[in-house]
Amino acid sequence: MFQFMPLRQGSRASSFWRAALSTTLDALLPPLCLLCGAPCAADGATLCAACQHDLPHLPAAHCPNCLLETPQGERCGACLAHPPHFDCAFALHRYDFPLNRLVQNLKYHARFALARRWGEQLAQASADFAADCVIPLPLHPERLKERGYNQALEIARHCARARCLPLDASSLSKCRATPPQSGLSLKARRKNLKGAFSCARDFSGQRILLIDDVLTTGATANEAARILKLHAAARVAIALVARTLRR
Ligand SMILES: [Zn+2]
Ligand SMILES: [Zn+2]
Repeated sequence: MFQFMPLRQGSRASSFWRAALSTTLDALLPPLCLLCGAPCAADGATLCAACQHDLPHLPAAHCPNCLLETPQGERCGACLAHPPHFDCAFALHRYDFPLNRLVQNLKYHARFALARRWGEQLAQASADFAADCVIPLPLHPERLKERGYNQALEIARHCARARCLPLDASSLSKCRATPPQSGLSLKARRKNLKGAFSCARDFSGQRILLIDDVLTTGATANEAARILKLHAAARVAIALVARTLRR
């Protein structure tokens, strides 16, 4: 980032030239990789080719519901015994180093270039799921006020644009702040989430692509999908940047 010597305060001409020079430099200098700082070859890229190649992947054969590894890519025993409320899931990566750093960069440091990249990648990854609209997993209004933005919405808007689908960021809301989920058993997480979401729209017959950044146990996405189905959604798929997997 270039710092310019302050010119005369309040001079309209000086701020014009500063903005013009900054735009020109941004256009001339290649973007730098967010992980290693090397110049990125592709226009608008956030990572260099080597770092992109090394990002952690999901197992090639995985359960279509929860994304855990299965021998032939079939549904896992847990999803057969207790089917989740969402019909299928897509994820770009396994949640592990250094992907976790990138997720935190978007979540806490407003690196919106990442949201654009992931939104467009999720549009491709979810192309086989015929959807009628895209919905981001909502944040509680107080959390939203603290952070200033919802990272899931930032990803969802690029995904919706790339798939030419309407984005609905207002019908599903988080109406109850939930204590941190980490350290809780799955049963406790489910109880923790009761009444956490509300929905202000009838989704009769709609197929919904629900967007979030990371899926850990799936309890939050599952509860959101349950509420959408309670409001008559026909199908719900979840699309994620990353899925946490036990090694
Ligand atoms: Zn790099
Ligand atoms: Zn499963």
